[in-house]
Amino acid sequence: MIRYYPYRYCPFCGSPLKRKKVEGKFRLFCPSCGRVIYENPVPVVAVVVRNGERVLLIRRGIPPQRGKWALPSGYMDLGEEPEKTALRELEEETGIRGRVKSLLGVFSQKSPVYRQVVVIGYEVEPLELKIRPGDDADEVAFFDADRLPDIPFSSHREIIRKAFESSE
Ligand SMILES: [Zn+2]
Repeated sequence: MIRYYPYRYCPFCGSPLKRKKVEGKFRLFCPSCGRVIYENPVPVVAVVVRNGERVLLIRRGIPPQRGKWALPSGYMDLGEEPEKTALRELEEETGIRGRVKSLLGVFSQKSPVYRQVVVIGYEVEPLELKIRPGDDADEVAFFDADRLPDIPFSSHREIIRKAFESSE
């Protein structure tokens, strides 16, 4: 089981961390080098690919929620633009190359790994629908938007709702 662990040692100098009140909140603080270690949500990008009234989902091959269906998604890399993350993750997980069509929304989501993530949802128009399940995905399939399987992430459900709402 993966879960969030706060830093115990300073990532800058290696000394044990303490907590103290900084800017109104109890934050991690290094008594040795004086740095405050801010804990922030991690950005994730999720992708909607539509085929008429159907939406592309992957069956997750990695935790969290391994074995469950969800949108193709992944963490932003340092130095990467969110639109680039969307296209990269889509191609890695489904083999589909595409171009970003629109921003569907930005949502907060609890995470067992990072405690909180910020999920940025894009609609991507595929260049061709040639599917090849890849990294982190056991299966890839289209589902009717009004008959979806159990999707464990509320942010993904919201993003799908936005994608089909905006097309009406
Ligand atoms: Zn330190």
